[in-house]
Amino acid sequence: MKKTRNTRQRGVILDLLRGSHDHPTAEAIYRNARRVLPNISLGTVYRNLNFLRDQGAVREIRPSEGGSSRFDAADTPHAHFHCLHCSALLDIPLPPTLESVRFEEEETISAVSLVDLHVVGSCSGCAPAAGAGHSVQ
Ligand SMILES: [Zn+2]
Ligand SMILES: [Zn+2]
Repeated sequence: MKKTRNTRQRGVILDLLRGSHDHPTAEAIYRNARRVLPNISLGTVYRNLNFLRDQGAVREIRPSEGGSSRFDAADTPHAHFHCLHCSALLDIPLPPTLESVRFEEEETISAVSLVDLHVVGSCSGCAPAAGAGHSVQ
């Protein structure tokens, strides 16, 4: 009985992640999961996210400047762009040159499971307008 419930919770969390493209935090996943599973706790969400991450079904992204981890249902390899101003976290393609690097040829590396490239800057919505003097709300 317990096993069935855990599996259902995990399925709901994974579905929520697969259906979102904004890399939600655990708290955001928790808020959405409660609509489907009103009794789910934040601790259960964290436990399931950790389990899914360890299984390789979910990717945890830790913003380099701190803040809450964000989660991604990792299916295809990609890099992340993080906006410092609005904290948007966007998927960007991995540079093809990076995809072709054979890291395993390094003496110190035996196997690579993920290339985690994190690009930080200003998104197009937050970039300062060309020319000064635009109004700030
Ligand atoms: Zn931004
Ligand atoms: Zn992503």
